[in-house]
Amino acid sequence: MDVTIFGTGYVGLVTGVCLAEVGNNVLCIDIDPHKIDLLNSGGVPIYEPGLDEMIQSNRTAGRLRFSTDAKAGVEHGLFQFIAVGTPPDEDGSADLQYVLAVARAIAEHMTEYRILVNKSTVPVGTADRVADTVREVQARLGRTVEFDVVSNPEFLKEGAAIEDFMRPDRIIVGTDNPRTAELLRALYAPFNRSHDRLMLMDVRSAELTKYAANAMLATKISFMNELSNIAEAVGADIEKVRVGIGSDPRIGYQFIYPGCGYGGSCFPKDVRALERTARGLGYEAELLRAVEAVNFRQKTVLFRKLNDYFGGELGGKTIAIWGLSFKPNTDDMREASSRVLMEALWEAGARVRAYDPVAMDEARRIYGERPDLILVNDALSALDGADALVVVTEWSQFRSPNFNAIRSRLRIPVIFDGRNILDGSLARAAGLTYVSIGRAPLK
Ligand code: NAD
Repeated sequence: MDVTIFGTGYVGLVTGVCLAEVGNNVLCIDIDPHKIDLLNSGGVPIYEPGLDEMIQSNRTAGRLRFSTDAKAGVEHGLFQFIAVGTPPDEDGSADLQYVLAVARAIAEHMTEYRILVNKSTVPVGTADRVADTVREVQARLGRTVEFDVVSNPEFLKEGAAIEDFMRPDRIIVGTDNPRTAELLRALYAPFNRSHDRLMLMDVRSAELTKYAANAMLATKISFMNELSNIAEAVGADIEKVRVGIGSDPRIGYQFIYPGCGYGGSCFPKDVRALERTARGLGYEAELLRAVEAVNFRQKTVLFRKLNDYFGGELGGKTIAIWGLSFKPNTDDMREASSRVLMEALWEAGARVRAYDPVAMDEARRIYGERPDLILVNDALSALDGADALVVVTEWSQFRSPNFNAIRSRLRIPVIFDGRNILDGSLARAAGLTYVSIGRAPLK
């Protein structure tokens, strides 16, 4: 089938390459000419495991092409995927300008039936706005070409995006039109083989399902972070509590790890956007507000622990940071906890020596050259001349470090583990003080 994807970010690129992988003919459109040039010259603008190889093989096979030409995109695909960003507006609601710009572009160039498939995370009612936008443009141009707007939210996780797309837990299709539903079912058939995971529903329920999923996951994290602070206050160990509650199958072990807050391009903005949607309709979403507030506070927990340890004297100190991306296996630093920590440290007059396996270029892009940020090429080099080590992202390679090497390279032997991934007793045996989340420090 012929498929067009608008937007070559995490979602658009992964959607495009996975649809090409199963034999479709995919044209990806982006307004960013640098991204398109890079993709056309064999580069990949983001880090995502397995993506690079799949792009190259599908480009070579001629099933995957990249262009800035929206008209060519509209002419190409029966399916017109919208996978552009929906960043937070000033008040936290989702900014739909990019989605509606794509809708206008499709409307301007559409000469035969098209299915607009919305993959971006958008507030309930956006499909109607997209349809209205297409109709307005058509009315202006004096045309009436048939089209449908489908809600098809994406649930992939950065860092495991290809796997998630190829073997989805569910494929949500929101449409009231049975013919469109069948076409989407056919497009997704290769990803829906072992048992039927395509869930057909009305458009508004599909749009809300995406927000509901992210809000639930964010709630689990904030709940555990709230409990970790209580555990610390009462002298309990949150990791023991985690194991204890996870054994109840109604709770389960997934996604109940305490830490230093959630980040990324989805949870923070989607929780906020859902809360703003509710408020706009006269409903105060108290729980969602609390989820956001707890997370906001949790992102400062590492700074507060450091500040306490150093008696409020962080000026002139050098802090080593392991992990800059908002989670492992991605270079994405949007709303990352590392940023809140680094910015607070700089404010307090401290310097940062940081290492991340893949997000160093992204850190350079965000912060540029500055004297209080030294990016180093390996984890141990971050420790040279540093007064403390802080683990912010749970990359696998940080889980079992050489504690003796850490001890000998740090100026002051102390580790702050923002994800509870290190073995504190081994750290202590090597002569380090080990400070973690939701339990007493080991000295
Ligand atoms: P992104 O910012 O990585 O990429 C968006 C891309 O769209 C950019 O390359 C931009 O240049 C392009 N773009 C903007 N306007 C355009 C236009 N008019 N025509 C063509 N291209 C245009 O965004 P993302 O992380 O891929 O997210 C896209 C959407 O999917 C968002 O709504 C997001 O909430 C949602 N989502 C993201 C994830 C994730 O893990 N990143 C997961 C599920 C859903």
